[in-house]
Order: sequence, then C-alpha cells, then structure tokens
Amino acid sequence: MGKFELPKLSYAYDALEPFIDKTTMEIHHSKHHNAYVTNLNNATAGPEFEGKTLDELIKNISKYPVPVRNNGGGVFNHNFFWSLLKKNEGKGPEGKLADAINASFGSFDEFKAKFSNAAATRFGSGWAWLIVQDGKLAVTSTPNQDNPLMDIAEQKGTPILTLDVWEHAYYLKYQNRRPEYIENWWNIVNWEEVASNFAKVK
Ligand code: MN
Repeated sequence: MGKFELPKLSYAYDALEPFIDKTTMEIHHSKHHNAYVTNLNNATAGPEFEGKTLDELIKNISKYPVPVRNNGGGVFNHNFFWSLLKKNEGKGPEGKLADAINASFGSFDEFKAKFSNAAATRFGSGWAWLIVQDGKLAVTSTPNQDNPLMDIAEQKGTPILTLDVWEHAYYLKYQNRRPEYIENWWNIVNWEEVASNFAKVK
C-alpha cells in the first residue's frame, strides 16, 4: 500500500441528493478520486519523495514531474471538496465569514454571482475557489487539478471553499448543464466548515 490513501467520506453517497446524485458521488469518490491516489503513490514511489507530505509537494509543485502535479492536485482538491459538502437547508454564511464576504464583494449575492461565474466560465476541466489573499477574500479558478496553493498558480492564496467543475462531477445528472449543477451546489455548501477554514487562516 502506498503512503497516500483515499479518505472515507463522513456521509453516505446519497446524502447530497437531489443536488448531487448517489451514482455520481460513488463513481467520483471510489473511481476518480481513488485513481488520483493510486497514481500519486506510483508517481512518488522514488526515494526523493521519502517523508514528503502532500502539503509540501503542493507548495513546491514546480520542482516535481507533471504526474505529481496532476495527481497530487487531484488528491488534495478532492479531499478538500468532500469536506465542504453538506445540505445547508438554505442557511448561508454567518459571523466573521459573512462580514468578510460583504467587505470583499459588497454582498453575499454579489459573491455568489462572482463565484458561479468563475465556475461556469472555467474552460474545460478545473475548479473554482474562494481564497484568502493578504487578509482579503478573492474568487479565482484553476485548470485541471491545479490549486491556489501551488507555486505555479496564477492567483495564489489559501483556499477556504472550492467547487469541482470537471464533467465527471456532474455529467450523469446534468449532462452539459454546468450552470444548473453550480446553482444546485449552493444548497450543499457546508458554511460551518468554510467558516472554520477561514478562522484558521488568520
Ligand atoms: Mn473531481
């Protein structure tokens, strides 16, 4: 067994229905995410990777071969994405996180529009992100399995929320309707977890 492992989800594959369906969750976690774990273990089998954590690899990703970037990002991004999903019953961000969103974007609705737009307009496969950058919040997106912690990222920062917009994340249920997937995803953002990520950055 390699040193990187597929984390268990803290909820059932059908817990996010009807916004993300059970089959998509099962394939996404047990096949796609699992493949990134397997391929990352293969790509980091050499002695030069001894003792390296995933965080260390990500932050210095320009020093490593492309398979480490693609699969290391794949593992990191999915670990993070799963932790941020929970039916929120229409509840939005509160407290200091809500204040920071208002300060950085004007209002929650303006933030939502900006994030949704970043997710919808990311060409091909990639991710949308809410990051903390020099004490302020910003929205960005990355191609493939890149993320804003990587030293090669166009816009760097500490991520506190992300959305997977690879077709494998939504195609079974939504086909080509990525904007509908994005709109429905707002129902399953775990704002307590985002707030906890935000609190850790400061
Ligand atoms: Mn994915």
